[in-house]
Amino acid sequence: MEADFDELETPVDNAPVLSTKHGNFTIEGYSRAAVQTYWRVPEWKIGFDMGLQPWSFMATPNWFVSHGHLDHIAALPVLVTRRRLLKMEPPTIHMPESLIEPVEAMLRAVQRMDRGRAPANLVGLRPGDVVEVSRELAVSCFPTDHRIESLGFVVWEKRKKLRPEFTHLEGPQIRDLRLSGVEVSQEFRLPRLVYTGDTAPAGLDIEPAVYEADVLITEMTFVTKHERPEDSHKFGHTHLEDILARADRFRNELIILAHFSTRQHPETIRKIVETRLPESLRSRVKIWL
Ligand SMILES: [Zn+2]
Repeated sequence: MEADFDELETPVDNAPVLSTKHGNFTIEGYSRAAVQTYWRVPEWKIGFDMGLQPWSFMATPNWFVSHGHLDHIAALPVLVTRRRLLKMEPPTIHMPESLIEPVEAMLRAVQRMDRGRAPANLVGLRPGDVVEVSRELAVSCFPTDHRIESLGFVVWEKRKKLRPEFTHLEGPQIRDLRLSGVEVSQEFRLPRLVYTGDTAPAGLDIEPAVYEADVLITEMTFVTKHERPEDSHKFGHTHLEDILARADRFRNELIILAHFSTRQHPETIRKIVETRLPESLRSRVKIWL
């Protein structure tokens, strides 16, 4: 059968990507439980998880993988080999330390199948580690509460401010001090974005930046009354009830809730969440389905 014009126009890349601009950066991604999870901020050249690789995501060189479940990591060899084929620099992929050995073995298997190299800088992380990504950005990691070892990530923007001992001085005095070689400013770090990966609510409460960062991307796998929060926690996931119980703590400007279970129809999920969210959260929450 001949394909009609509309079919030929269908984009090659069928990985869904939702997108929203927040201030001077853009959040792109998509996440459904047991299906696929991937996120990135193109302006920062940072991505999180790779359950699938939308074609455009290949341009992002720095990645942070939360854990080893396939819906979060399956496309790792795809990213590595695509970048090699297109003669781009090998990506740098951070992940929980325990994943390094199996991921190296996976890439070796890919090289045997592919008869080509699969070059990547793999970096193992432990909770509390900080990665200096660039002059402007750092990423720290914290332990989340999932069925296997799992990390959440905080993206910090590095800024400078005048040291407190110089704040009483006038502009020209500060300039003279600086010219004489005195370090007049000190660095401080602002939490711009948190990505939790998969976690029961204990993983939210362990890191204060979860509640303070400008943007929070987190999971809310279960939402209905018959999916009990206790069971969600056993599976290492968060329930709508957990988010509601913490409603007053979220200081974030934007909260993206994702990783919804496929057991419910998207419209059912949307309806339940929109009805139950308190006024204080409704305007700041995006439900990504
Ligand atoms: Zn998982």
